[in-house]
Amino acid sequence: MSSPNVYDTLVIGGGPAGCSAAAILAEFGHRVLVLEREKFPRYHIGESLLPFTYQPLERLGLIERMRESAFVKKYSVQFVAPSGKASQPFYFWDRYDRDTVAQTWQVMRSDFDLMLMNHARDKGAEVREEISVKELIKDGDRVLGVRAVDKDGNVTEFRAPITLDCTGKEAFAAVRNQWRKKDPFLNKVAVWTYYKGSKREEGFDEGQTTVAFVPEKGWFWHIPLHDDLVSVGVVAEGKYLSRDGVKDPKSIFHREVENNLWILDHLSEGESTGDYYITSEYSFHSQYAGCEGLLLVGDAFCFLDPVFSSGLMLALKSGVMAAEEIHKALGENDFSPKRFTEYARALREGIENMRKLVYAFYEPGFSFKQVIEKHPELAGDITDCLSGDVNKDFSRLWEAIREFVPVPDELPYGMPLVPEVVRSEK
Ligand SMILES: Cc1cc2nc3c(=O)[nH]c(=O)nc-3n(C[C@H](O)[C@H](O)[C@H](O)COP(=O)(O)OP(=O)(O)OC[C@H]3O[C@@H](n4cnc5c(N)ncnc54)[C@H](O)[C@@H]3O)c2cc1C
Repeated sequence: MSSPNVYDTLVIGGGPAGCSAAAILAEFGHRVLVLEREKFPRYHIGESLLPFTYQPLERLGLIERMRESAFVKKYSVQFVAPSGKASQPFYFWDRYDRDTVAQTWQVMRSDFDLMLMNHARDKGAEVREEISVKELIKDGDRVLGVRAVDKDGNVTEFRAPITLDCTGKEAFAAVRNQWRKKDPFLNKVAVWTYYKGSKREEGFDEGQTTVAFVPEKGWFWHIPLHDDLVSVGVVAEGKYLSRDGVKDPKSIFHREVENNLWILDHLSEGESTGDYYITSEYSFHSQYAGCEGLLLVGDAFCFLDPVFSSGLMLALKSGVMAAEEIHKALGENDFSPKRFTEYARALREGIENMRKLVYAFYEPGFSFKQVIEKHPELAGDITDCLSGDVNKDFSRLWEAIREFVPVPDELPYGMPLVPEVVRSEK
């Protein structure tokens, strides 16, 4: 009989990345342990799903559950100028199948993340809450397991041939290994709150995401949730948001509301729930995807920027991809870092494609409309990338965008750390 603290896979962090990986591994019949610091349901920002979150949700077997849920259905996105003038909504059904990808959801994260955690448990994963991983147990560069502390202060060691770091923006392993690299350009601040009873659209547009601009490439998100709540926040350069010495999130938020008439109008009814949040320095890349015995998943691997809502799609997709690869690794008893090269390559490809669009978005004077007017044949490529269909060849699109603004070079980050001796043997 195996020791109670030895598993096939350890998962640090029970958010969407961790629980999607755990559900699939448990479904394959592997012994999986998820260690989560908080007690669920817990609050989390990041509520809007992209159309191409459909595929990982389908792989997890959760589409029916989502359809039956209270989550608001999202069919479209619109952009609004500071004057309050709104673009025509872009409906996903103009390009995608109405019964699948063309409808997605705005999710209250406490409910969504709890659903994913319960699903992992239902599939057979062991999930322990209120236990915090403090240390990676290592033999040289090889990760053998973790040391964790529960809420009563008890310290326990857990071991497995592979550990998944799914700790989100804590980026547990990247921070400790000094793999955490800032993005050269993305470095915004976000300030947000929740409104109850504020104005919302009707019919199919009720669940629409609105991106509403303020000066200097700042923007609001307006994401209608269930229970008559709206998530509404502003993202911009720190020096713009703190320009008059104002530091408290509530004052920043309400000052910026005055800078977009659509937001002002929509928040003129109802009221804030009273909690105001602020975060900064969330954009980062891990230099490596992992090393022997360790793989990074979701935000713990990379987080770009909230603007195109790519975080949850990437978290769920990477959770599924990591689990499929680990299932094979367990079958072959081979956890060498280089077997995760394709996982890392595919994830980085998607991140780099999204990153090029995020950079273009923040360039002064740039708009995707200009590109589409000059290159109408590329409208579909823009839609695909923005909808989360990120693993494709978009080289013609980058050429076209380069006619207007610079397109960033890819960063030399994200492959697994292969030990020196293995590299020199090749
Ligand atoms: C301002 C803002 C707005 C955003 N808006 C959107 C959006 O609209 N749509 C979207 O898709 N994404 C959005 N995101 C991104 C989204 O929130 C993340 O991409 C997503 O939560 C990543 O999931 P994850 O599972 O990787 O990490 P998380 O959801 O952060 O889960 C990580 C878990 O690990 C646990 N943990 C951390 N450290 C430890 C430890 N040492 N031991 C044990 N447990 C630990 C945490 O408690 C947490 O539960 C936004 C992000 C920001 C900053």
